[in-house]
Amino acid sequence: MRTRNDYSIAVVWGTLISLVILALWLKVPLGVVAMIYVAHIHEDDLELYSTGHLETERLPALESHLLDCQYCLERLHQCLGPQLEALREGRA
Ligand SMILES: [Zn+2]
Repeated sequence: MRTRNDYSIAVVWGTLISLVILALWLKVPLGVVAMIYVAHIHEDDLELYSTGHLETERLPALESHLLDCQYCLERLHQCLGPQLEALREGRA
């Protein structure tokens, strides 16, 4: 029987193997790939991005991460939620 811990280990190994394959495929150091895929967008950066205050030079990296990361995309939606509500209430 598989425990939750077995599943977590499988996920970690799966992620590591995908990162190695990606690094070999893109011919970039593994560290670069790991940084893009493992380091998620900081809460403050998401906040700045959602309000349009993130520095322009940081936009491409953030947006390319968002394209590949469902987790950060969902966090961005959570950031945008209250603002969209405020807009809606403002219009009503
Ligand atoms: Zn992310």
